[in-house]
Amino acid sequence: MDANDPVVEKGREIFSLMEAEQPAVFDRHRWAGELMHLAMKDPHLKVQLFRFVDAFPTLTSSELITRHLREYFLSGEAHLSPIVQQLLVGASSGLASGVTSAILRRNIMSFARTFIAGETPASAGKTLQRLRETGRTFTVDLLGEAALSEQESSRYSDLYLELVEHLAADLRHRHAPAPLREDLFPYLNVSVKASSLFPRIGPLNYEESVEQVRVRLRPIFRKVREAGGFINLDMEMFSLKNITIESFIALLDEEEFAGWNGAGIALQAYLKETEEDLYRLAEWAESGRRKVTVRLVKGAYWEYETVNAAQKGWPSPVFPRKTHTDWNFERCAEFMLRNSHCITSAFGTHNVRTLAFVLATAERVSVPSGEFEVQMLYGMAEPVKSALREMGQVVREYVPIGELLPGMAYLVRRLLENTSNEGFLRQAFVENVDRDALLAPPEPWRREEHVVSSEEPGFRNEPPLDFSLPENRRGCREAVQRVRGKLGSLYPVVIDGKEYPAGNSIESRNPSNPDEIVGTVFGIDRELADRAVASAVKAQAVWRAASAQERADVLFRAAAIARRDRLELLAWQVLETGKNWAEADADVIEAIDYLEYYGREMLRLGGRRRLICPPGEENLYHYQPRGVGLVIAPWNFPLAISVGMTAAALVTGNTVLYKPSSLSPVNGWQMFRLFREAGLPDGVLSFVPGKGEAVGDHLVAHTDIDFIAFTGSREVGLHIVELAGRKAYGQRSVKHCVIEMGGKNAIIVDEDADLDQAVAGVVHSAFSYQGQKCSACSRVIVLAGCYDRFVQRLADAVRTIAVGPAEDPACFMGPVIEGGPRDVILGYIETAREEGRVIQGGPVPESGWYVPPTLALDLPPESRLLREEIFGPVLAVMRAKDLDEALRLANGTDFALTGGVYSRSPATIQRVMAEFRAGNLYINRSITGAIVGRQPFGGFGMSGLGSKAGGSDYLLQFMVPRVITENTMRRGFTPEVIA
Ligand code: NAD
Repeated sequence: MDANDPVVEKGREIFSLMEAEQPAVFDRHRWAGELMHLAMKDPHLKVQLFRFVDAFPTLTSSELITRHLREYFLSGEAHLSPIVQQLLVGASSGLASGVTSAILRRNIMSFARTFIAGETPASAGKTLQRLRETGRTFTVDLLGEAALSEQESSRYSDLYLELVEHLAADLRHRHAPAPLREDLFPYLNVSVKASSLFPRIGPLNYEESVEQVRVRLRPIFRKVREAGGFINLDMEMFSLKNITIESFIALLDEEEFAGWNGAGIALQAYLKETEEDLYRLAEWAESGRRKVTVRLVKGAYWEYETVNAAQKGWPSPVFPRKTHTDWNFERCAEFMLRNSHCITSAFGTHNVRTLAFVLATAERVSVPSGEFEVQMLYGMAEPVKSALREMGQVVREYVPIGELLPGMAYLVRRLLENTSNEGFLRQAFVENVDRDALLAPPEPWRREEHVVSSEEPGFRNEPPLDFSLPENRRGCREAVQRVRGKLGSLYPVVIDGKEYPAGNSIESRNPSNPDEIVGTVFGIDRELADRAVASAVKAQAVWRAASAQERADVLFRAAAIARRDRLELLAWQVLETGKNWAEADADVIEAIDYLEYYGREMLRLGGRRRLICPPGEENLYHYQPRGVGLVIAPWNFPLAISVGMTAAALVTGNTVLYKPSSLSPVNGWQMFRLFREAGLPDGVLSFVPGKGEAVGDHLVAHTDIDFIAFTGSREVGLHIVELAGRKAYGQRSVKHCVIEMGGKNAIIVDEDADLDQAVAGVVHSAFSYQGQKCSACSRVIVLAGCYDRFVQRLADAVRTIAVGPAEDPACFMGPVIEGGPRDVILGYIETAREEGRVIQGGPVPESGWYVPPTLALDLPPESRLLREEIFGPVLAVMRAKDLDEALRLANGTDFALTGGVYSRSPATIQRVMAEFRAGNLYINRSITGAIVGRQPFGGFGMSGLGSKAGGSDYLLQFMVPRVITENTMRRGFTPEVIA
């Protein structure tokens, strides 16, 4: 390292001025400091500790605290060391006493106050005053729960305005400490988060999000401006970054704010895009002849961004290593300082190397120390702060104010940051890494070193569309318009490659606008049905002889076509089945996944396998197709489920008659055309639409049908099973039934649940795609301990749901599928009104088949709303006094499809895993959205009669296993023995 490097010199100066003491969080004389040290040594303890701290605010009784302590720290083999035990309970009197939990509560509260200045602006007053008196300056942030409803957002806005008023009154005559320039850094300084202002904020709803954040920020900006203060717009998740930047720019472009320099925005150096964002902000400021303040930080959601991208199969928006972030920070910092004519710089970091770089660069490019500022978090890195102050640099502290409960997420972020292996504070103050090593320049990021090949062999889930990218939103909008231009076409029956454009026509309409005819599909009659079966029987001979590879290749080609046509396939669903973009996209990628997954599965299962073979005996095991299959599909996953059942049946060597739902026949045609284009020989797959009751029975009972793959309602499913069980004259095989039916799915909300997560998850599970998913949540069972709070938040969130045309991305909910089902759902809602109480969302448009999102409360136990599948946006809310009752209620139906629990108690989670009767059980997440290969899907009980779709057993249902045994010994000579 070059010792004369001004950065290194500066760094050494900072280190030399740092007081000998440790930062408070690492102070081993304090309870929390000791725990942090132990957690850093023991990763298991760290996880348990942070999880416990996260759950802690919901533990409202000493009994709950004691139980959680036991579960987190005394479970299984892992015994709590006496020292940890003593630290956690603060007393040696054992875990069970009320006194210990009181002590623990006090300890955790005091720990939280290390980072959170107070519950309200008034109660934080002392802390702020202390900061002022010691010549320090600060920015105040209001911690809040996730704003899940308009009520919660407007409460946040009100609190915010109050905060500004309070601070303005307090700070009226104060001035920024020297040498900060008053015009650039007014004393009053607050920070605000976009997500708290608009509950429906999100990338899918991009345009409305930008508009609403702008509108809702306006009064706050106005107030700050009147008070002569400064406001900074914080940056949160990557998915909200562009919304945040755009609303900021749009608001400041309003005439009212022309020439005002009192607003700034945070940018996160860990994002690969930040440099470009910085250029854009500089350009905008320059062209408007204004100055914009940028607070450059490293970024606090690295784990979230990394995990989220990995789960979705997206490129990670963040740099893979901390050192790359540090490198990017330096580049961005230099750009900011060099452009001080249009950017006022604020640097948020605790890292001495980064600070040294900033100070040295400021000197090099002649930006005086009063014209930029350094920011650090309240409660962290005190020695660094004091060193900087001694060097004449003002440090602004980022001071959060808020209640402990919503503050926990913030606290846990700080704990992670302080204890992370790569974190500067840990390295400098705990690991005592050599100072010169800490001052070494960070490693540059080179894109080419991190290119991941997309050609990796093996199955990978198709990534969903990232709606934060403008090209994807534009693509969806344009595809809907393109497909709209194709509406109204006629679709024939296709048998043995021959089209039959006549017969009982089925008119398909757009549920968002029933005047719009999506298409007209011709339906089969009995004669065509018989012809279709005959052609499938004939095609059997050729298709079953095709190799597994040839059959799998058809699936892979169909997947490639679906990928190519992805947006149009999405648009057909938006217009025919009322799915919003995201829901329709999820369906299309699930279809692609089935094709890729089952293709590979067949390659695994195809061919002959040798069994145990003693000398003289050859035992071979292989699968052969069942024969001719009838695939009967529902409308609610019009592509995915149709493709899944059909692909499985075809790839295993069967020939197939495919009957789409008469409510989504045009999407059914799309599926058929994928296989046709993929080169499936004529006769192997016939397209045979028709009203279920009209031709369904005839086909199910047909002599030459060998199996039926059905997904739909219980009523029809059981009817098919019954009919298939009767032997027809001349029938040669027992008809095999793969039957997937409905559910009456429940989510249990435990009293220690994270309600931010639980409310959002329940809303999503119950109301996404209008509740028309077999996996949808239709009962939420809430433990008494959090019932009132949960229901209040849920009700507010339901009232906030936007309902409207499926093609409008601002609408979370669209219409239900048709007028008939709508009336049935409305009938259930009437019953709920008579039997109990109903809470609903606002009015819905009149022009389509809409039903408002509805909560049904206080229903009698015998209510049919608690037993029957409603298949619409109606959620029954039930109260349980304890977990026993919750499980009894959850299991109180004959369905067993999906289920879920929100809990932070390890013991509760274990019990629910063991006792909840559901084919797919989800813990602390929504209960819909199963992904091929990750959550193979399907129920038991009255929910299904098959093994999991998208799982490794699925294809076996479409084949029969055979064993061939050959006696290889002829007249005493055995080939193996000779060999
Ligand atoms: P549905 O039972 O009304 O129709 C399903 C299919 O069966 C349609 O193609 C229909 O035309 C056909 N059909 C109707 N009567 C028939 C008969 N007599 N003979 C042969 N076919 C007949 O169901 P739906 O409304 O299309 O779909 C919603 C239902 O599907 C819900 O109950 C939902 O829970 C269930 N579902 C289950 C799963 C799962 O994987 N378990 C997945 C999606 C949907």
